[in-house]
Amino acid sequence: AFEGLTGRLQDAFSGLRKKGKITEADVKDAMREVRLALLEADVNYKVVREFVKTVREKAIGEEVLESINGGQQVVKIVNDELTHLMGGTQEKIIFADRGPTVYMMTGLQGAGKTTTAGKLANYLRKQENKKPMLVAADIYRPAAIDQLQTVGSDLNIPVFSMGDQVSPVEIAEKGIQEAKDTNRDVVIIDTAGRLHIDETLMDELENVKTAVNPHEIFLVVDAMTGQDAVNVANTFNDRLDITSVILTKLDGDTRGGAALSIRSVTQKPIKFTGTGERLDALEPFHPDRMANRILGMGDILTLVERAQQEVDEKKAEEMAVKMRENTYDFNDFIDQMDQMQNMGPMEDLLKMIPGVNQIPGMDQFEMDPKDMAHMKAIVMSMTPEERANPDLLSQKRRRRIAKGSARNIAEVNRMIKQFKQSKEMMSKMSNGNMSGMENLFGG
Ligand code: GDP
Ligand code: MG
Repeated sequence: AFEGLTGRLQDAFSGLRKKGKITEADVKDAMREVRLALLEADVNYKVVREFVKTVREKAIGEEVLESINGGQQVVKIVNDELTHLMGGTQEKIIFADRGPTVYMMTGLQGAGKTTTAGKLANYLRKQENKKPMLVAADIYRPAAIDQLQTVGSDLNIPVFSMGDQVSPVEIAEKGIQEAKDTNRDVVIIDTAGRLHIDETLMDELENVKTAVNPHEIFLVVDAMTGQDAVNVANTFNDRLDITSVILTKLDGDTRGGAALSIRSVTQKPIKFTGTGERLDALEPFHPDRMANRILGMGDILTLVERAQQEVDEKKAEEMAVKMRENTYDFNDFIDQMDQMQNMGPMEDLLKMIPGVNQIPGMDQFEMDPKDMAHMKAIVMSMTPEERANPDLLSQKRRRRIAKGSARNIAEVNRMIKQFKQSKEMMSKMSNGNMSGMENLFGG
């Protein structure tokens, strides 16, 4: 997400960054570019106006203009203001003091309510040790109940439903009772959406709200819809007084408008983002990290957290030792490839590394899963001795491996060469010498 915006902002600052001491005119020029970049990213025009005004005022202050790295300071101000725009600090979800916590998912049809209900249940179980239950209160969309049941059975989380002949209010009330009876501590109510906002929908959601008095009313909005998402958020908020927003489809080609406008227009925090169709693709929203990402500074913290969830810690330590001692071999390579695949698409991971998006062509980068499969096939065709000791790989052996893996010899050679290079770089990096890293990112 946000590649277009990130690129334009970096262009806007590229002159400033190099300059050192800057003038008021430099700031004005850069801010003109920033303004256009934000408008093009579909950020609400009032939000843009306020934002640009604030940054300009702070940036033409004396300290900045007098300083020897004024350009950097302007970027820092923009970063801080972007963070502020998205809520400043992370806001946590609300739980009931006692009795089951009740959440209501609301939003337009297709926004991602049902999927997100499942993701949230999965997240709460994994990260908060909760025992969630899903409630099927969308009785209009054909197969909506089936969809939630499928999600529930994929996750092994119970789903309460009463078919489509009972009112959503009654389903929600009975669902909460069921949760009490069966010792579930979070109830997530999936509701119906429409393609457009209409009175019947709003009335019904209001009735459910009144009946069950939820601890959170999540508004689920599709980030791809930009300004529309903001309008939808406003309408839902006026009628239901939502408590927070979940922004879905941030993995797609979104421009950034929704993420940057929703908070300041509705005054309601974004608490999670959806980053894929998988039921584990939900991330707590951190305004500061998102600002970093938007400015192309990467998001190392999220990357590390994701790694901590997926990577076996003991294995990671072993791996670090191997890198340091330069005994990393093809068996480790395969192990790591498998672990990486569990962390999500490679291109998403790479983009969280600071500087990577400045590598030419990186915005187009896609790692073909087929390439991974080919690499794996090549390694699998090596003997255990060859995997453990890549120096054994003579031309003759390489030809045998190429045959065995149905790849051509050039590909086998290339892969072995890359392996050796990255091994060398890793050993340098883990010995505290960052030049490998600098070379990689064009230092
Ligand atoms: P609902 O009508 O609001 O309940 O929406 P659904 O949960 O049925 O989702 C509609 C479509 O959006 C489904 O195909 C989901 O897989 C997809 N979807 C939901 N969240 C995300 C997300 O974060 N990323 C992507 N790529 N797709 C999503
Ligand atoms: Mg649904």
